[in-house]
Amino acid sequence: MDKPKVAFYWCASCGGCEETIVDLNEDLLKVAEAVDVVLWPVALDFKRKDVETLADREIAVSFINGAVRTGEQEEMVKLLRGKSGLVVAFGSCAHLGGIPGLGNFWTRDTIFQRVYKEVPTIENPDGTTPQEKTSVEVGELTLPEFYDTVKTLDQTISIDYYLPGCPPPPDLIMNAVNAILTGELPEKGAVLAPEKALCDTCPRSKGKPEKISIREIKRPHEIMLDPEKCFLEQGIICLGPATRSGCGERCIRANMPCRGCMGPIKGVVDQGAKGVSEIASLLGLEDEDKISEEDIEELFNQIADPAGTFYRFSLPASLLRRGRIG
Ligand code: SF4
Ligand code: SF4
Repeated sequence: MDKPKVAFYWCASCGGCEETIVDLNEDLLKVAEAVDVVLWPVALDFKRKDVETLADREIAVSFINGAVRTGEQEEMVKLLRGKSGLVVAFGSCAHLGGIPGLGNFWTRDTIFQRVYKEVPTIENPDGTTPQEKTSVEVGELTLPEFYDTVKTLDQTISIDYYLPGCPPPPDLIMNAVNAILTGELPEKGAVLAPEKALCDTCPRSKGKPEKISIREIKRPHEIMLDPEKCFLEQGIICLGPATRSGCGERCIRANMPCRGCMGPIKGVVDQGAKGVSEIASLLGLEDEDKISEEDIEELFNQIADPAGTFYRFSLPASLLRRGRIG
């Protein structure tokens, strides 16, 4: 019997999701034995035409990482959607927009201005910026369109499953691969990760008081962090209350707060708004009578980059989706 065909593709992302496939270690050999990889540009020399010649839905599953930022990415994910029985949005950027999605606070023009003309390390006396078409002696060179707005994968094509995380944890990847190979799949649209919030699995939640009394919000490098205590108790923003578990509390165990890469817990539309409300509801001052909206506002004003803190991975998937254009 033919092995199921599998494709991996990389859109707007850092490449860490591709690394995590290699991190499967010996499990990678089991996957390689069980499937027939038909596209994996980062590792194997397949071309777009190899995908185009496949029949519709001939690929059993495509794992697509990265958000959609360019015309080429949009074309490729639409091509893969047509050729695939299942599409898995693989990693935070495909799932929610991820770090590239923070570009939605700016426009293409302001990004090009900064990147190609203003950064201190740039040497560009003619102020050249990328063009979709450039005429040279030998003909015309083309680049894909760079969109104003970064989109999540499901804002571009329909998605069957989501594997969250920056990058997705290897055990969740193997669970997903096994479920696909055995056909024991949950309902379409499911996030293939536990439903509990990270605080529910966090080793620091045991001693966490019901009401957290902080007078000052700090950044991790500004204090000596207690490796046992809840970060919020130490005045450090941790998105554990608003974030799905399943990552093995990777950052917490490395003494860093959660930034929210596993995405929102089930039923939450806007992870950033949920983070603000969860943390606001936990905050209090030592004297309960004194807590007021002004006190909470004062505490939140101490957060260095509120939009980047609460929407670090999820701006394109949020209710706002982006900053205002124009
Ligand atoms: S807020 Fe962060 S450190 Fe505190 S219990 Fe939740 S995940 Fe753990
Ligand atoms: S602790 Fe938070 S940011 Fe770190 S891997 Fe887990 S979900 Fe992602």
